[in-house]
Amino acid sequence: MKFVDLAAQRARLGSKIDDAIATVLDHGVFIGGPEVTTLEEQLSAFTGARHCVTCANGTDALVLSLRAIGLKPGDGVVVPSFTFAATPEAVVLAGGVPVFADIDPGTFNIDPTSAALAQKEAERVGIDVVGAIAVDLFGHPAAYSDLSAALPGVWLVADGAQSLGASVNGARVGTLASITTTSFFPSKPLGCYGDGGAIFTDDDDIADVVRSLRVHGQGSDKYNNIRVGTNSRLDTIQAAVLLTKLQSFPDELNERQGVADQYRIRLADSGVVIPRVAEGSRSAWAQYTVRVPDRDVVAAALSEASIPTAVYYRQPLHLSTAYALYAGELNMSHTETASREVLSLPMHPYLTAEEIDRVTALVRR
Ligand SMILES: *Cc1c(COP(=O)(O)O)cnc(C)c1O
Repeated sequence: MKFVDLAAQRARLGSKIDDAIATVLDHGVFIGGPEVTTLEEQLSAFTGARHCVTCANGTDALVLSLRAIGLKPGDGVVVPSFTFAATPEAVVLAGGVPVFADIDPGTFNIDPTSAALAQKEAERVGIDVVGAIAVDLFGHPAAYSDLSAALPGVWLVADGAQSLGASVNGARVGTLASITTTSFFPSKPLGCYGDGGAIFTDDDDIADVVRSLRVHGQGSDKYNNIRVGTNSRLDTIQAAVLLTKLQSFPDELNERQGVADQYRIRLADSGVVIPRVAEGSRSAWAQYTVRVPDRDVVAAALSEASIPTAVYYRQPLHLSTAYALYAGELNMSHTETASREVLSLPMHPYLTAEEIDRVTALVRR
């Protein structure tokens, strides 16, 4: 059994991915080729966001967004501690100070009440909080409207690295915050065959600045540098891979939902806590993460039966070596409990009913 099955996905697409790569090898425009522009157009149509700007990876997508907003040295940005390191890392790389908040124990996403407390606490010690990054952990959209209400006057970026394809009341990820970032790392819901990322926004100015930043801060002329930028482009070959995979992505999202439904039915009343998606939301189901108090025992039993699992995340970032200096006084008990109890089960569109049965029977036992 596979945790994520990229081989089954490639088999479904037949020779289409190989053909798309061969086309790029033939035309030879490896950077900024036509596939990049087409992908940006199609992702903008898919999400409903006015602009899609691709870049080298999901971490850069966050850093470029923070730079485009105009984050100043020492500015505070509220982030969850229960996330991948890239979220607070991007804040530090862009010159800011991560301000950690706790999560809602049901959705694993940043808790708006804790975010407001984190802002207050940071301001008490002299940090000017200018923004927040919410993470759509495991593919479930964060509580954007509650978060905006809890943090008036600060901007909100959505880290949608795990949630491309998810939605809230029909509005897709890419349109739920003023700027959304995503990642095309191979194991994300829409993954390429290497690194890749993108930024979504309706804001023309932000999109223009990100387009300039990703090519060394160029102006209208290639050799007129109007700001200090970086090199963060999506390779044409990766765009060709993504364009091909995008064709089956809507079906894959439905299949992931089907797997999640089966897990929910088969794990009902089993004693493990199953994931909760907010009313009106659809998850992209990047991960199917349950909670069990004896997590390591369950993981070992599954491993014994050759069923792969993963723990996202074993270490809250406010307790990690790199980010402990940003830990404040705030109560982070939901984050700390989650890090001891979470277990992600195999999740991909190609899991069979028999495989789901085997996983859930063992978990129940
Ligand atoms: C994967 C991920 C990122 C970073 O994406 P890369 O493409 O690997 O740089 C950022 N945030 C979250 C929540 C992620 O899961």
